[in-house]
Amino acid sequence: MMGSKKSSLSIELTVTDIKQYFYCPRVIYFTYCMSLIRPTTTKMELGKQSHWREESLQKRRTLVKYQLIKGERRFNLRLRSERLGLSGVLDMAIFTRREAIPVEFKMSTKGPSLNHKYQLAAYAMLLEDELFERGKPRVICQGPLRPRRYVRRGFIHYIPTRRVHEIEVTANARKHIKDALIDMRRMIAAESIPEASRRKNRCRDCEFTRFCADIA
Ligand code: SF4
Repeated sequence: MMGSKKSSLSIELTVTDIKQYFYCPRVIYFTYCMSLIRPTTTKMELGKQSHWREESLQKRRTLVKYQLIKGERRFNLRLRSERLGLSGVLDMAIFTRREAIPVEFKMSTKGPSLNHKYQLAAYAMLLEDELFERGKPRVICQGPLRPRRYVRRGFIHYIPTRRVHEIEVTANARKHIKDALIDMRRMIAAESIPEASRRKNRCRDCEFTRFCADIA
């Protein structure tokens, strides 16, 4: 069932939408334009539990895996950017004297996929805006943390393999994210369904397969 048409400018998006968009833009259409019930799968529940376990492990560990000697870790940071109309909850951020570094925990055993890289870059942009927006430091950098820090890289931490991948947050990635936000808002406002993913292996793992009648 179609929802009522929205003005694209007022559509607030999340970092999860960025991840889904780079997986397949159709997921965004189904999420925002159709009243579908998204089941909470066992996989999702296991993922949440692993994140909690990883958080408590991280609190006891050093920062060697991130090639850092010192830094303050903060977990489950709620971030929002007025400028981007984007929000999300970041698994962990490390604050050093010079840098703020976003870290995402993943349950996958594979290396960084494109959508995970863009998800991390989107968190980097949110973190940056929280630290710099309108020159007013917000809640996350009160106390001993100073607001002005670079956000130029992040890490994806793969829980099953314990591997950590450093991801550079490039100007190109930032541009792709801004373009994606424009495209998502346009698509949602017009309620237009995008082409199906050309990568059929993605459809096999997708919770929306039964709604995509046009895929072989
Ligand atoms: S089933 Fe395939 S085309 Fe349909 S939303 Fe999922 S990934 Fe995209």
